[in-house]
Amino acid sequence: LASRLRKIPPSVFGRIAAVQTRTGAINFGQGFPDQEGPPQVVEAVVTALRSGRNQYAPVRGDQALREAVARHQESYYALTVDPDTEVVVTTGASEAIASALLGLVEPGDEVVVLEPYYDAYAAGLDMVGAVRRPVLLAAPDFRLDEKALRAAVTARTSAIIVNSPHNPTGRTLTRDELDLVAAVARENDLIVITDEVYEHITFDGRAHIPLATLPGMWERTLTISGSAKSFSFTGWKVGWTIGPEPLVSAVLAAKQWLTFTTNAPAQAGIAVALTEHTDYLDGLGADLAARRDLLCEGLAAAGLPVFVPEGTYYTLTDVGELGWDDALQFCLALPERAGVIAVPVNGFYDDPAGGHMVRWAFCKHRPLIEEGMRRLGSAR
Ligand code: GLN
Repeated sequence: LASRLRKIPPSVFGRIAAVQTRTGAINFGQGFPDQEGPPQVVEAVVTALRSGRNQYAPVRGDQALREAVARHQESYYALTVDPDTEVVVTTGASEAIASALLGLVEPGDEVVVLEPYYDAYAAGLDMVGAVRRPVLLAAPDFRLDEKALRAAVTARTSAIIVNSPHNPTGRTLTRDELDLVAAVARENDLIVITDEVYEHITFDGRAHIPLATLPGMWERTLTISGSAKSFSFTGWKVGWTIGPEPLVSAVLAAKQWLTFTTNAPAQAGIAVALTEHTDYLDGLGADLAARRDLLCEGLAAAGLPVFVPEGTYYTLTDVGELGWDDALQFCLALPERAGVIAVPVNGFYDDPAGGHMVRWAFCKHRPLIEEGMRRLGSAR
């Protein structure tokens, strides 16, 4: 194994998916919904497959999809985006993250990440030979601390990676927190790479605020999003990046050598989704909020008090509350002890506090959440 990969542990999601397959336990692990997206969108892909859309799509992405992404930014966030120069389609947000880091970050650069950081940011930074500088969002409220953020920026910093709604804490950054990120980015002339894949999954009336809409931020912000979480088609791997031409071109420069182009029929389907089925996006938060409550109540009753998520599919618990000091050991024992599965997120932390943090996903059918919480309660 090449040295740049040697220090990156294998994806915890792969490991947890394998445990799920082996044990059949109720899955609060990997973040994918039990519910499919709109059936008409599946039909649109079938139509694309049957009407000869089976060769390479344009490298930048399907024209109709790029136009739909631009219209989406306009109608939800009043951001005017040129679909020809300011949007690039990627094979999921994962490829967007890797391409952004390859295209924009020099080896040896420092990049600020909010900790817990989604593991793909850390892996991507390791693969480009850059250094992550984590800023801890500390339990129990996971707020961004101004001093910590400012202290993480040095003369070698070139970018900040932001993620809101935030996986795995379930935080949605407030306007004040985003203003702080924006101020630090402007003052230090940094690029911001913002992962907004959960943009449509917010609760209790909170509205998603794209970082690119803040004053002076469009020109230094690369926004990453996609269809997996917004339309519940995680397996199709259709994501995108949006930003000023120089930043998006840097993504394209890397993307063309990774996958070259993204699955053509799936892009055709997501173009239809973003054009004709935005009602699906508007209903997502309300639909998930009830299941969030069910999970949070169940976890609390089982002795695991939780931060009530403001967005995403996830909540975090500190299993130290149950006397476990190792999140991985807790999660490996869980299928047998309680017939349920959760994700250890120690790999999302440098801080030792992460050693006993466990993530639970609630994008699952109600009866499964109920049964899972019953099992967890009686396994105490
Ligand atoms: N984004 C999803 C999660 O956080 C899936 C991650 C993955 O499987 N790599 O669960």
